[in-house]
Amino acid sequence: MSPPPSIRVDTIPEEGLPLELPLDDAWLAQVLTDANMRVTPATHGVARIRLDRADDDVIVSGTVKSVVTAECVACLDDVSLPVEAEFTLVLSPAASQKARRPNEEVELTSDELDTDVFENDTIDLSHWLREQLMLAAPLHPRHEGDCPRPLIPPNVPTVNGGLEREIDPRLAPLMKLAKKE
Ligand SMILES: [Zn+2]
Repeated sequence: MSPPPSIRVDTIPEEGLPLELPLDDAWLAQVLTDANMRVTPATHGVARIRLDRADDDVIVSGTVKSVVTAECVACLDDVSLPVEAEFTLVLSPAASQKARRPNEEVELTSDELDTDVFENDTIDLSHWLREQLMLAAPLHPRHEGDCPRPLIPPNVPTVNGGLEREIDPRLAPLMKLAKKE
């Protein structure tokens, strides 16, 4: 298994370090196990990111995408879904966090600006890409459209008619909610 690499901060050049990292299937499989998902075979996950230094901080930005197979919450069959995250992380050296306390009053909270820390002068891309994939993974995987398929006889018109017409219009908002669930 070859997880995404760890990058030593002092190897990041001043102009930044662009990286295109194919995601190792075995690594991805391990990441997805925690979310009860599997790698969809023959899909090639990839991270396209760049690392930039800003004083002591390191900014990791880019995208990570993959295709996962999960159990559809509606029909319990497998459903294959894209997982894609676009992110910008501002990582500060762990050692400097205490020194920064006096500046706590700055307007941006860590929620607004995605800040976190790195340790040992190293950016562990395996850790950060894993986290981004987990954040982007669907909580309730589900086939698109109506699932399970409604049992409508084929001779019943469904466009601008059929069952929709019989529903009291006052219930329409409820129906929308029910479909989303
Ligand atoms: Zn389904």
